[in-house]
Amino acid sequence: MRSFDYIVVGAGTAGCVLATRLSEDADASVLLLEAGTAFPPPLARDPLAWPALAGTEVDWRYTTVPQSGADRQQLPYPQGRVLGGSGEINGLTHVRGDPASYDAWDEAGAIGWTYESMLPFFMRSETTLGGDPAYRGQAGPVPVDPPATTDPLWEAFFTAAVEAGHHPNADSNGPNAEGTSWSEVTVRDGVRRGAAEAYLAPVAQRPNLTVLADAAAVRLVVDHGACRGVAYRVDGHTGVTYADREVLLAAGTIGSPRLLMLSGIGPGDHLREVGLPVVADLPGVGGNLQDHPRSQVAYAASRPVGDGTLARRPHVLARSGDGPPDLQLGFVAEPIHPRWMPGDEPGFSVVFALMSPDSRGTVRLRDPDPFEPPLIDPAFLTDDGDVARMVAGLRAAREVGDAPALADLRAGEEYPGAAVTSTAVLAQYVRDTATSSFDPVGTCRMGIDGAAVVDPTLRVHGIAGLRVADASVMPSIVSGNVNAPTLAIAERAASLIG
Ligand SMILES: Cc1cc2nc3c(=O)[nH]c(=O)nc-3n(C[C@H](O)[C@H](O)[C@H](O)COP(=O)(O)OP(=O)(O)OC[C@H]3O[C@@H](n4cnc5c(N)ncnc54)[C@H](O)[C@@H]3O)c2cc1C
Repeated sequence: MRSFDYIVVGAGTAGCVLATRLSEDADASVLLLEAGTAFPPPLARDPLAWPALAGTEVDWRYTTVPQSGADRQQLPYPQGRVLGGSGEINGLTHVRGDPASYDAWDEAGAIGWTYESMLPFFMRSETTLGGDPAYRGQAGPVPVDPPATTDPLWEAFFTAAVEAGHHPNADSNGPNAEGTSWSEVTVRDGVRRGAAEAYLAPVAQRPNLTVLADAAAVRLVVDHGACRGVAYRVDGHTGVTYADREVLLAAGTIGSPRLLMLSGIGPGDHLREVGLPVVADLPGVGGNLQDHPRSQVAYAASRPVGDGTLARRPHVLARSGDGPPDLQLGFVAEPIHPRWMPGDEPGFSVVFALMSPDSRGTVRLRDPDPFEPPLIDPAFLTDDGDVARMVAGLRAAREVGDAPALADLRAGEEYPGAAVTSTAVLAQYVRDTATSSFDPVGTCRMGIDGAAVVDPTLRVHGIAGLRVADASVMPSIVSGNVNAPTLAIAERAASLIG
């Protein structure tokens, strides 16, 4: 089997960036391996259709283990399995979050990974039409702007948020993220522009870039402490391909630790338990799983609530207390019934998510079979402080939903119901209704301590020739959704390697 200079495993958000940037060097040969299809369904192009992609063949269709902090529920856990990865099935919002989230990485041992140091990579990844050119990119591959179209419904939500005390913020991806902003989306001309469309598609014909879809990596080839290549399954056969320089894992927060563990790189006890030989005892692999838990306050409306157009929508970044911003509020033009079921009656919901949870979960192998889904435990709301901050989020959402700008639309609060005010009952409602924001990170944590998986140059501790560069390396989750930081991580990784 031929070898390549670089093998990138996983063609998701990060993998598409890495393959594009590394193949800019015409002398470097690059293989991009993707388990899913090269042909996303037409629905993926439509920015409003993304919820319909979960559960289809372009989703790994994972569910969590029963969530002890969330009513023992096994929650759906979609992850993209297609060229473009989760960036091909995601909700398209482009949110950096508060700069303090990044400074926390450096403080946790990801030395040199501050907001200031990430800024050039955020800027390199994006093109936005407005914003302060000191903070916003104007020549990057991914177009990121709020849609041009306005809608009275979303204008009313924006006003309601301001009335509830969340000041207007002209650019939440500028120096300050807090307040009420129009969300930017990765869309141009009404069509999705994830990393597959924005980075990979324009360069896919490069002679030094090979994209192999429907090819699932099953094991890394490790020899004398160095990663030499990747074994993968395609058309029912197993092949091996070798890397002359490096293997770059970009299989995502679930896929990257899973492949490391299948290769014998992970917590020794766990590997022995599932019957795998231990190649490197790295206790942190698959730990530190973090995600944004979310719930909602649902209202009945006095008249039908439209939502058929791609119009600019607001979101809010707020604080539950004295610390950095940790609550995100958003709006849905449907009354969401527990659990995340849209009601038939006209209504709307104010969604709230905890952006800096203290709960920590795991990704573990069920057994050594590389085609068995892993055990995913985000451990939602296992930290009591997270529940308290979710209740603060519920109260903040209620203040927006009850604001004067929504008076003529609002017929009354359906869930949890206006009469429900006690902290204990609201806490139970949060536990009963919490679900994922689909933002998993952290399972190959960057750092310099014994439980860190990669060092600040993204090299796997103790294994030569192997880096991880995707959402899994974040030491802690950021106070925005995680596609924008993943683009920036991959840009930074490419600059470290090239
Ligand atoms: C339904 C949904 C909605 C979301 N909405 C938003 C949003 O609105 N805004 C936002 O910022 N973020 C959102 N996200 C999160 C965001 O899309 C992800 O955080 C981001 O795409 C992560 O990028 P990644 O490169 O780390 O992983 P991914 O994009 O998931 O890429 C991993 C790739 O690796 C492939 N892979 C895995 N294992 C293997 C293997 N063994 N062999 C070969 N290939 C493999 C996968 O098929 C996939 O293509 C959403 C995610 C989902 C699932």
